[in-house]
Amino acid sequence: MFQKIENFVLDCVFPTYCLGCGRFLKSEAKTHLCPDCRNKISVNSGLFCPICFKRIAAGNFNKCRHSAKASSLDFLGIAVSYENPLVRELIHKYKYGFAKEISQTLSEILIRYWEKTCPDDLKRYCLVAVPLHRQRFNWRGFNQSEELAKILSQRLSLPLNNNCLIRRKKTASQAEIKDFQERKNNLQNAFSLKNQGPLENKNIILLDDVFTSGATMEAAAAALKSGGAKRIIGLAIAK
Ligand SMILES: [Zn+2]
Ligand SMILES: [Zn+2]
Repeated sequence: MFQKIENFVLDCVFPTYCLGCGRFLKSEAKTHLCPDCRNKISVNSGLFCPICFKRIAAGNFNKCRHSAKASSLDFLGIAVSYENPLVRELIHKYKYGFAKEISQTLSEILIRYWEKTCPDDLKRYCLVAVPLHRQRFNWRGFNQSEELAKILSQRLSLPLNNNCLIRRKKTASQAEIKDFQERKNNLQNAFSLKNQGPLENKNIILLDDVFTSGATMEAAAAALKSGGAKRIIGLAIAK
C-alpha cells in the first residue's frame, strides 16, 4: 500500500516519459522505454572477435586465428548497434544529460544480450568497469560504466571488482580524436593497477558504455592482463 502511494506521488512529481515516443511511463516500471520502443531495439547474440569483429556463435568460445599479441581482449560483447537512433539518444542522455537513472534501461539491454549470448559459464567471471579519471568523475557525478556494472553484478550474480583498475592519466576525450594511432597514444599508460592479487587467473568481463575505436578498452585490458587476468571479455552496450 505504502509503495503504491509512493509510486503515485513519484509519477506526479517526477513523471517519466518514453525517450522513444514520449508516452507516459509509470515510475514503478523503472524504465525509460515503453514496450513498443523497447522492441524496436534489436539485441545481438553471440560474442565478437575483438580484432576483425566477426560474430562468434552464441555460447561458443572459439577464437579467430590472429597473431597472439593482436589484442589484450579475448572476446568482445556488443549488445546493440550504435546506428540505432534510440540507442544513441539513451546513451547521450545518460552520459551528457547526467541522467543516472537511465542506467536501469541500459543495463536491461545488456542483460537481454548477455542472456542470449552466454547462458552458462558465468560463475567464473568477475565484472570490472572501465574507470574514469577523478576529474571526469567529479564533472559527471558518477561513472557511467560502474553504474551499469553494479546493476549487472546484482542481476547476474557476478562479483564486482571496482578497486583494482585505476585511471591515472586524464586523457583527451576519445570522441575528439579521429586517428586510431593517436587514440592509442593518448591512452598509453592511462590505466594502472592498485592491487594485483585479486586479478590473478581471473576471467573478467570488462564493461564500458560504448565501443568506439576500442582503444580505451584495449588499454584497460592490457593493464588487467599485466596483473595476471586470464580471459577478458570486453562488454559494451553499443558499437
Ligand atoms: Zn515509446
Ligand atoms: Zn577475428
